[in-house]
Amino acid sequence: MVNVCDIQVMKPLLAEHGFHFSKAKGQNFLIAPWVPQSIAEQAGVDDTAGVLEIGPGIGPLTQQLCLRAKKVCAVELDERLEPILDITVGEFDNLEIIWNDVLRLDLPALVKGEFEGLRPMACANLPYYITSPILTALLEADCFESVTVMVQKEVAQRIAAAPGSADYSAFTVFCQYYAQPQLLFDVPAHCFLPQPKVTSAVIQLKVRKHRDWDILDETVFFRTVRASFAMRRKKLSNGLASGFPELGKSGAAEVIARAGFEANIRGEMLGIPEFAKIANEIVKWREKQ
Ligand code: SAM
Repeated sequence: MVNVCDIQVMKPLLAEHGFHFSKAKGQNFLIAPWVPQSIAEQAGVDDTAGVLEIGPGIGPLTQQLCLRAKKVCAVELDERLEPILDITVGEFDNLEIIWNDVLRLDLPALVKGEFEGLRPMACANLPYYITSPILTALLEADCFESVTVMVQKEVAQRIAAAPGSADYSAFTVFCQYYAQPQLLFDVPAHCFLPQPKVTSAVIQLKVRKHRDWDILDETVFFRTVRASFAMRRKKLSNGLASGFPELGKSGAAEVIARAGFEANIRGEMLGIPEFAKIANEIVKWREKQ
């Protein structure tokens, strides 16, 4: 197997194919072999797993996934990488490479078609410029058992944040609604070529089998969350009145009271069950009008 993380191997391979890194495509390739090995191991990839990899690059993580999984589908946007991947992962017959933009794929259909009878997982060293859209698509697809990804460390901290902390955001609530996050390990910038300006971290999102919250309307729930964080420094009632103009200030105060909270509560202190209570009161308030 070609040691793609060895810079003495990688640089001539890239040069031979006239490959230049594209910043716009988020191309920072791994040059520390322990990283793809740890991602594949800690993701729990084994011969019962079907793994979707996003952005194989020249294949360091792809190799580790193919060594462990029953089947791997790797989606890559940059077709210049095709002759290089032929050399680095061409030997694996449990690998299919899909040349496309991951955001254009029908993920539930792909999982159904490719991973029948397997535990579907997503694993990736993500292109950072589209971290949020990719995580949103992977979680909303609701067809993966887990999502194990390398992201910027600050994004990982935001995903795993607790209510009341500075990192807690609407995106935290979105991710934790679908999955339970666990920070796995940090990856310093010197593990990549070219080096990114930020520290990275690997996070695992274990997708919830059951969402045990009584939510009357998911759309209203997520709108409530977004409205609550849109005016972070202000009272929740201001955020709700602005996010749901039909409520006005008095309706916002009424739903907060009916949900059982103090009038001056701040949205950033609330967890998913509390947002669910408020969103449900908004639904009921609307029905009364
Ligand atoms: N997995 C490789 C590694 O760890 O060395 C490369 C990771 S690099 C951070 C991100 C990869 O995602 C690049 O190969 C890039 O071309 C690819 N990529 C960027 N945007 C993409 C998209 N929309 N869909 C699929 N792949 C994409």
